[in-house]
Amino acid sequence: MTSCNRCGVDLAAGSLKYLVTVNVTADFDGVLPTQVELEDLEAFMRQLDSEDPAKAENDVYLSRGYVLCPACKAAFLADPLGTRAPGDGPRPGPGDGDAGGKVH
Ligand SMILES: [Zn+2]
Repeated sequence: MTSCNRCGVDLAAGSLKYLVTVNVTADFDGVLPTQVELEDLEAFMRQLDSEDPAKAENDVYLSRGYVLCPACKAAFLADPLGTRAPGDGPRPGPGDGDAGGKVH
């Protein structure tokens, strides 16, 4: 059975679940450092040759997929970079007022 990659809850066949795909690519801005000497470049290329090709590739492009339950999908979208303090719930937006949320 599939389970949520974030909280581990079981996701039965046919239940609502989400696939989050994260693509991380090196952001090359087209500018090479001008102070790089040719020898440095050659040393760098030699280092690349001796490196694990899979690791070198992951430094440039990495794609991961995660299955999330609806609650974890909402939590991910609320804070995709994990920049909120732990335990920080969703903050009420402006105009949300009435924190009690009572319905009569
Ligand atoms: Zn979950």
